[in-house]
Amino acid sequence: MDTLDVKDHSLPRLREAFAQRGLPAWRADQLASWVYRQGVEDPERMTNLPADLRARLGDELRLRALELESVEQAADGTQKGVLRAADGARLEAVLIPEEERTTLCVSTQVGCPLACSFCATGALGFTRNLRAAEIVDQVALLRAVLPPERPLTNVVFMGMGEPLLNLPAVLEAVRLLVDPKAFGFAPRRVTVSTAGVVPKIPALLRAVPVNLAVSLHATTDAVRDELVPLNRRFPLQVLLGALRELPEVSRRRPVFFEYTLLEGVNDSEADAARLVSLLAGLPSKVNVIPMNPHPDAPYRPPGPDAIDRFMAVLSRARLTTTLRRSRGSDIAAACGQLALRAARSAPDAEGAGPRTLRLQGAHALRGR
Ligand code: SAH
Repeated sequence: MDTLDVKDHSLPRLREAFAQRGLPAWRADQLASWVYRQGVEDPERMTNLPADLRARLGDELRLRALELESVEQAADGTQKGVLRAADGARLEAVLIPEEERTTLCVSTQVGCPLACSFCATGALGFTRNLRAAEIVDQVALLRAVLPPERPLTNVVFMGMGEPLLNLPAVLEAVRLLVDPKAFGFAPRRVTVSTAGVVPKIPALLRAVPVNLAVSLHATTDAVRDELVPLNRRFPLQVLLGALRELPEVSRRRPVFFEYTLLEGVNDSEADAARLVSLLAGLPSKVNVIPMNPHPDAPYRPPGPDAIDRFMAVLSRARLTTTLRRSRGSDIAAACGQLALRAARSAPDAEGAGPRTLRLQGAHALRGR
């Protein structure tokens, strides 16, 4: 019989796969309880499973899709995990502890095909989609890093890659996250972010009641074409028009907009005013993220005064707005910095290692 990768399948599909192998479907629920609810992956400890099923685990029924290669801790408590897949591909996931919650930011692709001009992942290019099991394993492996008094409370699909270009795997992973018999996260504690793959958005929200985040970053097509090349296919009016049509969006369930502030590019008060009018009548929350500098992009964050002026226009218009503090930037774990710095500074990686590191230092200084 073919190998079955357990974490590739939502529970209903795992039950079917069990049945096809002559196993009672309810054994799938028992296995899910060990793996997802209790975080146990050692078959020996799954005491309510029969010995022959335990013997098949790890072999014919594969549990693990990733290895956790390293965990790096930033000064502010943010932790970045570097994970390795069976084919050697490497990816990153970031744990962000806050006062009343702990969020994990997961990757959905190795690299990213969208090539947004300010994003370090975009500069890597695209290698491949992650499998559902590889998304799920980021959650399984990194929540195990947390101390018991700090449970994982939120998962955001905002790491490397564009989730909606890998929708089938993302959906299976999300189903496992929100299934009470698997991870059991409340759907509102799971957020999927897209740069605006318009045709896939309705299918996401129809399938799972998670939060939708949209990376907007600009208020004119001319600027957004430069920052998010996908805008040439789905320009602002098409994107926002589609969002207005979504039956799932309401005051109780607004769209989260990410707006990365780039000095001199999209940070003027006129930009803020345009943002207000673009979002008029659309239930929204705006998350403003000052650019996290990195060596692959020529942009910088605005100074504090410019940020204040931008935020003031939004709050005068009573838009719900938050300013996202940069977290983990000293270990390149902040938004848009996920590009496997360690891999790229290795001597055999493209470009000379020491040069990469020196450039990074220079940019970091100029960005302050
Ligand atoms: N591809 C999806 C998921 C990635 S989310 C999307 O674009 O929504 C990662 C978020 O970080 C996006 O909003 C992205 O635009 C933002 N980001 C990318 N590079 C950044 C940088 N250098 N500084 C701040 N935010 C950045």
